[in-house]
Amino acid sequence: MRSLLPSDSGFAMHDSPWPFVPARVSIDLSHAEGRTLYLRNGGSILDASGGAIVSNVGHGRKEVADACAAAMVSMSYAVPPFSTPERLRLVERLRRAWLPPHLTRVWLASGGSEAGDAAIKLAIQHFQAKGETRRVKIIGREISYHGTTALTLAVGGHVARKAGFESVMPHVLHVPTPYALRSPLGRNHPDFDIAAAKALEETILREGPETIAAFVGEPLNGSSGGAIEPGPRYWPMVQEICRRHGILIVSDEVMVGYGRTGKRFAAEHYGLEPDIMFAGKGLAGGYAPIVGVFATDAVVAPLAAKGEALMFYTYGAHPGACAAADKVLEIMEREDLVARSATKGDALGARLEAALGQHPNVAEIRGRGLLRAIEIVKDRETLERFPVETGMTGRVVAAGLKEGVFFYSGGTGEIRDIVCVGPAFTVEDGELDRIAETLRVAVDKAV
Ligand code: PLP
Repeated sequence: MRSLLPSDSGFAMHDSPWPFVPARVSIDLSHAEGRTLYLRNGGSILDASGGAIVSNVGHGRKEVADACAAAMVSMSYAVPPFSTPERLRLVERLRRAWLPPHLTRVWLASGGSEAGDAAIKLAIQHFQAKGETRRVKIIGREISYHGTTALTLAVGGHVARKAGFESVMPHVLHVPTPYALRSPLGRNHPDFDIAAAKALEETILREGPETIAAFVGEPLNGSSGGAIEPGPRYWPMVQEICRRHGILIVSDEVMVGYGRTGKRFAAEHYGLEPDIMFAGKGLAGGYAPIVGVFATDAVVAPLAAKGEALMFYTYGAHPGACAAADKVLEIMEREDLVARSATKGDALGARLEAALGQHPNVAEIRGRGLLRAIEIVKDRETLERFPVETGMTGRVVAAGLKEGVFFYSGGTGEIRDIVCVGPAFTVEDGELDRIAETLRVAVDKAV
């Protein structure tokens, strides 16, 4: 296989895909098929993370492109109050086969950040319409990422992406994310989940419940912490606390939704019934930009009663994107890919455990379904991290690329040296072998 070193012609130092940073390395692709990315220089890369944990049905699904093309030939665009057949079909499928029954209201945005913004604003609008006008505060979590608009950045905990914007961000509060490995109670303390839920209630009581509109969190933390499990008691407790104080739960399933963790939505693992959910990436599996915002009747009713417009983004529910999403979900149903994500996820977990479970620089291998992550440390016993300047995640990703496998970097702020694995659900066992073995080689070379 051809080398993927930056000196190789596969790396272009011009026309960078990175915004305004032309000096950063970019790799020129020619096309992709299944789980494989093909380079302009003739090389190939096994995509172990479905891009940014997006690709679920794999590349090259011509029927998705055909559905998208047919929609665009029929109509390029429509604006509310008009509804397109593609949008109606998608909403009908979501309601029939995907959404939990209590989330009856569907609204479609064109990206995760936009959807997160809309979901959080919906929570605030709900209370404004009800006359509870003091409920404007939002509680997010320390280890989190919800998007890159001003509001979603503020609610999230992505330190690097927030840098420089802090003074213009709306006021939000942050509480601990349950994190067994580094629980303040001690490593893998059995009550780490209870402690995190209690910290939420303490914050609510300190601030005054009547001032808080919503609590925002991912059921299972995605790439910001690296597939961190919340523990079995966290969400039941959080749900009880929020209900008791009249606070809405906004669940972010942008990364973990649509089968990624082996269930349709990750909330199902924990008995979580959010009031509002936004879920994307997997909705059209990378074929089109589309993300859903879903809510209960009770959330939307006060707004509807006042006849207020919810929100509007020009490219929400674009007909081409709706057609692509409808076809991707049809493929997922036909090929039973949610179940496959669960079984191949278990197989991936076992392989990662065999390859890296005893590695002196791997503190933990975690995750569910086809969302897995490793946390790299300098010392497995003390959990001491490598210095920031080491750039360990980047070193592992670069070493993986040299071996022809792409891994997705995770982590935020103090939570660093996280590498995520999340291939398409169509992944084969031989590819899982290669992914686990290459990650071991990449870690060995990087540390
Ligand atoms: N929420 C989570 C959990 C994410 O992982 C992401 C993106 O990675 C977003 C929100 C933002 O989505 P987008 O990049 O489509 O704006």
